[in-house]
Amino acid sequence: MSCGEHRASGSSAPAGSSKLGTGCAHSPLWRTTGRASATLAAQRGAPSSATVDSGCEQRPAPYAGVVRIDIVTIFPEFFGVLDISLLGKARERGILEVNVRDLRDFTHDKHRTVDDTPYGGGAGMVMRPEPWGEALDAMVSPTSTVIFPSAAGMPFTQSLAREFAEHDHLIFGCGRYEGIDQRVVEYAASVTSVYEVSLGDYVLNGGEVAAMAMIEAVGRLVDGVMGNPLSAVEESHSNGLLEYPSYTKPAEWRGREVPAVLLSGNHAAIAEWRITQQLARTRRVRPDLLPPESNANSVS
Ligand code: SAM
Repeated sequence: MSCGEHRASGSSAPAGSSKLGTGCAHSPLWRTTGRASATLAAQRGAPSSATVDSGCEQRPAPYAGVVRIDIVTIFPEFFGVLDISLLGKARERGILEVNVRDLRDFTHDKHRTVDDTPYGGGAGMVMRPEPWGEALDAMVSPTSTVIFPSAAGMPFTQSLAREFAEHDHLIFGCGRYEGIDQRVVEYAASVTSVYEVSLGDYVLNGGEVAAMAMIEAVGRLVDGVMGNPLSAVEESHSNGLLEYPSYTKPAEWRGREVPAVLLSGNHAAIAEWRITQQLARTRRVRPDLLPPESNANSVS
């Protein structure tokens, strides 16, 4: 099957972004890298590097500009957690702008109805297109990126998080019930780039928790959000492997000792130990992340 058949119809996507209707395991499109960080940073008027050299120390670069996130939901209260922790601080500092919109504000009937029975029959209700159309019209532009969390979408990965972190305006459309009328996705794809994204192979009650997870994964990659941007460099999935185990003080706890190499001060030996641990852990827990030949040679 041609994977082009899986794309949503519509106008061309902005340069460097994927134009998708559904997740397609055959398609390389969802792996598109997106616009180069340097270009975007330049557009936002700041250096793109993660750190600047201050002469005697490395410190985080000044953040490159505001990333705007609009969320459409029938449960705005879900997103109260965006007031706290790293993302709350990023909002206070003006790096992230988050607007939560109640889908029911785009209805016009007394009961603020957002759902109806499915055409063709079947269980449950489907979200009606009209309020979604009005909500999107109020916020979308050709430079927006619209993300619909969906159990039927493409898998959410660290590389997709990195790609989204390069975009200036993200819109998350949180489905409920049996989902959103598919014409809404097609309509959005006629205006700008659209992704249907799954958090994993299971079904949630709504898109809010999935949107929250994606916003957290994307938000921490936005320039200036993490106190030490180097933290993201050696994390799980940053180089295709899971992270090595971490330890802190005390050096002995309940009879268990920190691996001696970590106390040795030998940076080359520590780096080598960490890579070995990353490979061993990935092979044990997530062999699917490794090339098949690597697993064929595995002894444990
Ligand atoms: N009928 C849908 C299906 O079979 O794919 C499931 C609908 S689910 C009960 C309601 C909403 O939860 C979806 O519209 C989507 O927004 C969200 N959702 C459920 N599972 C999800 C997942 N694994 N990843 C992302 N969003 C999910």
